[in-house]
Amino acid sequence: MQYDDNGIFAKIIRKEIPANIVFESDNVLAFEDINPKAPVHILIVPKLPVATVNDFEPDHAAIIGELVLAARQIAKDKGIDEKGYRLVFNTLDDGGQEIYHVHLHLMGGRRMAWPPG
Ligand code: AMP
Repeated sequence: MQYDDNGIFAKIIRKEIPANIVFESDNVLAFEDINPKAPVHILIVPKLPVATVNDFEPDHAAIIGELVLAARQIAKDKGIDEKGYRLVFNTLDDGGQEIYHVHLHLMGGRRMAWPPG
């Protein structure tokens, strides 16, 4: 899928629009979801211009790992690591993806239902 350089998350990464940033490293940015679906709802994004999980390349493997490690750290910082949390990559239409800059949802602070809707 074509990456849109003017998308909302690209602008957040460039600090052109505000977000409540909770974690930043050379390759990764994490910020609060503007419309949280759980008491803790954080979006973790690679700074790379990648639209969906389908667009990851094999040489992105280390950065994909960094997303999960960042999520784990944020879960700990938010105090939900011991009770548990959910990590989700919505992908394309059937996956419920609305923003085409790949992002990992970290959700917790309540018990998650399964299966999701
Ligand atoms: P998805 O449906 O997986 O693409 O998730 C997109 C998420 O981005 C939704 O949970 C939105 O609430 C969230 N979102 C949209 N705009 C912003 C924004 N400006 N800052 C933070 N989160 C946003």
